[in-house]
Amino acid sequence: MRLKDKTALITGGARGIGFAIATSLAREGANICIADINADGAKSAAAKLAESGVRTLGIEVNVADQPSVQAMVGGVVRHFGKLDILINNAGIGGNTPFLQTKLEDWNRTISINLTGAFLVAQACAQQMVDQGHGGKIINIASLSGQRGGNGRAAYGSAKAGLELLTKVMSVELSEYGINVNNIAPGAIETEMAATAHDAATRSAYNYLIPMVRYGSPEEIGDAAIFLCSDESRYVQGHTLNVDGGFGTAGLMFG
Ligand code: NAD
Repeated sequence: MRLKDKTALITGGARGIGFAIATSLAREGANICIADINADGAKSAAAKLAESGVRTLGIEVNVADQPSVQAMVGGVVRHFGKLDILINNAGIGGNTPFLQTKLEDWNRTISINLTGAFLVAQACAQQMVDQGHGGKIINIASLSGQRGGNGRAAYGSAKAGLELLTKVMSVELSEYGINVNNIAPGAIETEMAATAHDAATRSAYNYLIPMVRYGSPEEIGDAAIFLCSDESRYVQGHTLNVDGGFGTAGLMFG
């Protein structure tokens, strides 16, 4: 129960990695707000987590819309009285070759995956600063933000921007006792991967990943517990790759 009495907000928590992180944090005793553009999904995910005995709330948010983000943070504080942990996770996938990337697709990806993450992080950080007792912000980046992957012009650029934003936030928010770090998942078995990865893509990934398998959302949840707990209090501005070695491997022959 390392997170007992903490309040955690998880954006995009109705399913996938966000829901798995929420489940892990609830297991450690945190009260949970699930915020998602899928309002019914957010409510039913929150109801499921309430069965484990923690307090929960499910609310609708569009992270790309500033008034909606401000309403979300206000809703969390009204319900729980405070906000201690942000999991900045909401995002959309994207896999379009550079030359075919349309401006509207580029703008949509950047507006949700980078601008949305910025809006949520800023509103939550302001709340934590006002509370005056520190906090934890974990941005969910991606291996795609570190490497030049096919079809990842918009998605990868957004995630690369998020990694840099994390570093800036970690520098500026240190004086308030707020830890800001990234988790960069590799290939994780969620709806996002199921939609984007055909059989050829899957075998290519499995060739490139030293552990020769996709990760599970629960494995991201386990990493998040560390970054949300007091044990990581001196970890600042760091990107924790959770990727089966994908990010560190060179070309593998034989
Ligand atoms: P997912 O599609 O299963 O879940 C994403 C959630 O975000 C959904 O519940 C969706 O409704 C919500 N969402 C989308 N747009 C939103 C918006 N504008 N406002 C609020 N909520 C919104 O995806 P996932 O695989 O669980 O991915 C979660 C995060 O992890 C994303 O940021 C993604 O980029 C990142 N990631 C995923 C993988 C992977 O392999 N699955 C790898 C690296 C990084």
